[in-house]
Amino acid sequence: MSLLPEDKQTIFHTAIVGGGAAGLFCAGSFDANKIVLEALEKPALKVSVSGGGKCNFSNRFVSPADYRCAQKHFCKSALAAFKADDFIRLLDQARIPLEEREQGRLFTKSSARDIVHLLVKRAKEHHTRLATNVRVLDIQQMNGVFCLRTSAGTIQAQHVVLATGGISYPELGGNSFITKMAQQENWPFVEQQPALCGFTLPKNLRTVFSTLAGNSLPARVSCEKHTETDALLFTHDGFSGPAILQTSLFWQPGQQVEIDFLPSQNVSRIFAAHKNSSRLFSQVIADYFPTKKIAKILLGTQDRDLANASRAELDKAARLIHHFTCIPVGTSGYTKAEVTAGGLDTRGINPSTMEVRQTPGMYVIGEALDVTGRMGGFNLHWAWSSAYVAAQHLKNKF
Ligand SMILES: Cc1cc2nc3c(=O)[nH]c(=O)nc-3n(C[C@H](O)[C@H](O)[C@H](O)COP(=O)(O)OP(=O)(O)OC[C@H]3O[C@@H](n4cnc5c(N)ncnc54)[C@H](O)[C@@H]3O)c2cc1C
Repeated sequence: MSLLPEDKQTIFHTAIVGGGAAGLFCAGSFDANKIVLEALEKPALKVSVSGGGKCNFSNRFVSPADYRCAQKHFCKSALAAFKADDFIRLLDQARIPLEEREQGRLFTKSSARDIVHLLVKRAKEHHTRLATNVRVLDIQQMNGVFCLRTSAGTIQAQHVVLATGGISYPELGGNSFITKMAQQENWPFVEQQPALCGFTLPKNLRTVFSTLAGNSLPARVSCEKHTETDALLFTHDGFSGPAILQTSLFWQPGQQVEIDFLPSQNVSRIFAAHKNSSRLFSQVIADYFPTKKIAKILLGTQDRDLANASRAELDKAARLIHHFTCIPVGTSGYTKAEVTAGGLDTRGINPSTMEVRQTPGMYVIGEALDVTGRMGGFNLHWAWSSAYVAAQHLKNKF
């Protein structure tokens, strides 16, 4: 529903820009006359499709170490204030069953849409008008009141919460409103980049690996100080799969990525056990891979028969399997990235309230901030935690 004539006459206690995970959760966490302004026809579209439709809403083991943020300690207080158990309690009260999967990942047993319904219901129960199809174009402060110019007219509020998310997945609401606000208000900003996405490879490697597109295998992927052991998927452009998606969160353009394609084995030892074999390297290790052609493609022109291989050739082949290195030319971009890394610099935000230091009365929560979680429920958990602490501060402001 769009704006009503009376919305334009009212001075709301709080206007929340963005009816996604963080915006709706904030609206449902304190009582005050407030309005949520959502650009799309339906709220929380990302939540609806999250976790493959089952919403990986949090993680049992959430900790600050699961987040990338230029200010290492920023997210500590919000994560301490609102924990996975707090969200679980809300689901229990609403009789939404949950399921715990590997590595503490928490999902709904039913459907992600149940969580969206819960978010909307809670917001409405806490005196919130939800105005969809209303895009906020610009915010100015006049005589101590915020004036929000929207696609449906101007509204006024004493406080504003920016919950406009990141750039990724434009069809689900991704946009750069926070960048525009930061430029307008001169707030510090951390450059954004797509994250939790695949890598694209230089043309020569793309040609080699595209023949494996669709195949996946367990791999250990390292970049700088970060190492992930999980599935790697070969694609037409390069590499994807959970191990790569997690790595993309910490990767900076130009950095080298190292991959161990057979982390559970020692290829040198396998070669030693077959040292007089007339078979090729790739034939001897083929059985350790999900499909035989993977070893052949990985070894390429370095494939030899074991009996005639020199020590240097054996070592080189083992290095190709365990220490393959490449410099990705880029990522699969914002249309496929699950999240946007970077955003509003948290040096400009009070970590206990999410209020913008330079602009009292203005709050920023969720993915719009320079706080980006690993895969596994951490990003939605950040949306809840940051929204909760903003709400705790706002509920005492009259
Ligand atoms: C396909 C996909 C699957 C995901 N799965 C998971 C998962 O299982 N677990 C997990 O933890 N994370 C997951 N994520 C990430 C997670 O969904 C986001 O990190 C989270 O939704 C961020 O919450 P937010 O409220 O900050 O932003 P969003 O949920 O993106 O909400 C922002 C809202 O603001 C609105 N908006 C923006 N600008 C304006 C404006 N100017 N005026 C009015 N409205 C505006 C947008 O339309 C949008 O609805 C997934 C992301 C994607 C894309």
